[in-house]
Amino acid sequence: MNTYEHFIDGDWSAPDAGAYLESIDPASGETWARFARGNVRDADAAVNAAHRAFNEGPWSTYSMRQRCDCLVEIADLLERRWPELVEAEIRDNGKRISEINPQFGGLHSWYRYFAQQGREIEPRRLSNQTPGVTNDAHYLPYGVVVAITPWNSPLMIAAWKIGPALAAGNTVVIKPSEFASASTLEFARLLAETSLPPGVVNVVTGFGHEVGEPLVTHQLTRKVSFTGSDFGGRKVAEAAARNVIPVTLELGGKSPQLLFADADLESAINGIVSGIFLSNGQTCVAGSRLIVESSLHDEVVGRLIERVIRLQAGDPLNPGTEIAPLANRAQLDKVMSMIATARAENATCVFGGERLYPEERPNGFYLQPAIFTDVTPRMTLWREEVFGPVLAVIRAADEDEAVTLANDSKYGLAAGVWTSDAERARRIAAQLEVGTVYINHYRSVDPGSPIGGFKASGYGRELGPDAVRDFMQIKSVWFGTAPCANPFPPQSG
Ligand code: NAD
Repeated sequence: MNTYEHFIDGDWSAPDAGAYLESIDPASGETWARFARGNVRDADAAVNAAHRAFNEGPWSTYSMRQRCDCLVEIADLLERRWPELVEAEIRDNGKRISEINPQFGGLHSWYRYFAQQGREIEPRRLSNQTPGVTNDAHYLPYGVVVAITPWNSPLMIAAWKIGPALAAGNTVVIKPSEFASASTLEFARLLAETSLPPGVVNVVTGFGHEVGEPLVTHQLTRKVSFTGSDFGGRKVAEAAARNVIPVTLELGGKSPQLLFADADLESAINGIVSGIFLSNGQTCVAGSRLIVESSLHDEVVGRLIERVIRLQAGDPLNPGTEIAPLANRAQLDKVMSMIATARAENATCVFGGERLYPEERPNGFYLQPAIFTDVTPRMTLWREEVFGPVLAVIRAADEDEAVTLANDSKYGLAAGVWTSDAERARRIAAQLEVGTVYINHYRSVDPGSPIGGFKASGYGRELGPDAVRDFMQIKSVWFGTAPCANPFPPQSG
């Protein structure tokens, strides 16, 4: 069994209390690794290391160009060595190798993008209305950034935080999920081979309340970037408020897909299936609520069932596997309990929702994709995030009703619109209360496109044209170009 310790100040560090957490491989149900179970003293050690690296080490003297060169070095290393990271993540969260390979094969490109963006950041001359002065905006790092990540795509989400935070000049303490820390620690092992000075990136592992919260409330932490559930996000925002430090929150969703009778149905079915059943629905933008124009309802449901009925469950390390296990036991239990609630509330399960026991992995946490009809907007399945392969289908009489249903959610992360009428698509996109709208398309993420939510899906954005600046604070510098006038000129007479 692999044992992982914290990565602090460029070195491996045993947990202060000597305690470890077990990581269970969701495909086999067996423990495959253990992680350090961090506590307040581990958090203190990591933040102090990051603070020293920010203030005293070589990093504190690096120019933006040198920092971006470091990111390119990381990108080059990742481009060559990403295959070494794959198994750790699959063993931790069960994601299929056919999804992980392209995701990890592209990891380097995130770092390159942030390096490129960082190089373009310069002080900006601002217009001002005061004669005899200039005013410039200087962009400065915060200092120690705490990055907290979930279990569904740990290394990709870590890239969204580490890349821009470093380009901006910060140092980072990252805390991955207690369910999936291995790939982040393997990445730290790679980082140790680069010229990145010790303490610039640190990884501590353990539970959110035991080590995550002490990281957030540490007196030397200057910014927090959090991705996870809205429950966790609220806790983190409350904790950060105690020291008045800024937080970016990338939280959950209950994203609607609006399907109209004039859509290219084949393309829409592909997008809807990919939106909710690829990755077992364990993506923040999972399109878990399908709002379909009434006339299409039965045909669409039939076609969706046809798509998922023959999918084969198997070992996620096997490239032919179509259904991977859910990421952990707790998640399987949660999804099954939400399926039971949906049945109890009288939604109709037209397909799936049962445990699967594939021959090659009979003890894994496998579940059939589930499709529910006869769903109403008051039902739990319509309102709460499942974060699993469960689709709720509802009918809409027309466009207005579809938009009302779509917006009737505490969340506002993403939405899909399927129609061949471009005018209608634009009209609907403008009305949807979400951070991302996909039209006749679903689920892309790109370094150049901001991601983030409205409402309970969070605040702040990651990625996009301001990704690096979001990890910087602005200093406004005034420069007098003419002598100051006496504010109390001698009175004449
Ligand atoms: P979670 O909130 O349980 O945990 C996320 C991380 O926060 C973990 O590292 C956890 O240890 C830590 N944490 C929890 N409580 C904490 C506290 N009080 N203080 C500090 N840290 C704490 O979420 P999860 O189950 O790991 O991830 C699934 C959720 O993440 C879903 O809701 C999903 O929608 C969301 N998500 C959002 C995005 C996005 O970009 N919006 C992306 C991926 C996942």
